[in-house]
Amino acid sequence: MYQHEPLFLKPEFKDRIWGGTKLKDLFGYDIPSETTGECWGISAHQNGPCEIKNGPLEGKKLNEVWEDHRNLFGDEEGEHFPLLVKILDANRDLSVQVHPDDTYARAEEGEAYGKTECWYIIDCDSGAELIFGHHATSKSQFTEMIDNGQWGDLLRRIPIEPGQFYFVPSGTIHAIGAGTMILETQQSSDTTYRVYDYDRTDDKGNKRELHIERSKEVSTIPHVDPEFHPVVSEEEGLKETKLIEATYFTVYHWEVDGVYSTDLDARYLLVSVLSGEGEISSADSSHFVKQGDHFIIPSTMTEFEFEGELELMVSKSNK
Ligand code: ZN
Repeated sequence: MYQHEPLFLKPEFKDRIWGGTKLKDLFGYDIPSETTGECWGISAHQNGPCEIKNGPLEGKKLNEVWEDHRNLFGDEEGEHFPLLVKILDANRDLSVQVHPDDTYARAEEGEAYGKTECWYIIDCDSGAELIFGHHATSKSQFTEMIDNGQWGDLLRRIPIEPGQFYFVPSGTIHAIGAGTMILETQQSSDTTYRVYDYDRTDDKGNKRELHIERSKEVSTIPHVDPEFHPVVSEEEGLKETKLIEATYFTVYHWEVDGVYSTDLDARYLLVSVLSGEGEISSADSSHFVKQGDHFIIPSTMTEFEFEGELELMVSKSNK
């Protein structure tokens, strides 16, 4: 497939009991409900694959393009597209949860991948918090505190601010708190084990399902804060912060101001526009881009240029 232009994607939206309206209010998306929690901006996952919006592949789903036109992805191997990029609007607290690693997900869930994820805090209310990790020092203590419902003692709460970045390896107990909007870059997996849901009920009085035993099996005990060191660099037209380089992905925050020209230094790049507007062009294409757009720069687009004022989240697979 000859395609010297980005693959723009049509987001998939997910209704969640904890969702709100910020995906419309702040990003201008046409959301399906007043409790829309997730915008899957770049997804080939079976639970919500995105459709291509432009060019010769218009109307195809990203998973089909991955299958049929692997040259656009530098002939990367793997049955399933590796990453998933979402924007989340947590109007209420998310359940306290944990995700399995690749081995567990394959053996127990038939999922291709486990779920290591990372979060860039786009916006949050003052006083907003995350749950990140726990205070148990042994598996028996962890089990006991869960069985006794000692959530206040068990869960580690941390205050957050816009612009912060968190790396969440599989096995980390975590929850995004009310009043938080994040961009999440993750392995392409939809397996979540709920440990605690604040005893909430839906409009029919039902509690959501918990997965206590599985959570105990996959959680990292004691909690380990992952080490990583963001690297900032500047060149003509670009301030880049390499937020993390991990096993599954490398994630960057790019601030384009003016004109930034570059070679494609990866098999392909996933790009989400957090704010601003401008243009992306190559030798034979030019596209207007604005806040809320999600696109892939394919292997065939060996050189490209951004022009404008743009804040971008950019990631690449490290397979
Ligand atoms: Zn998660």
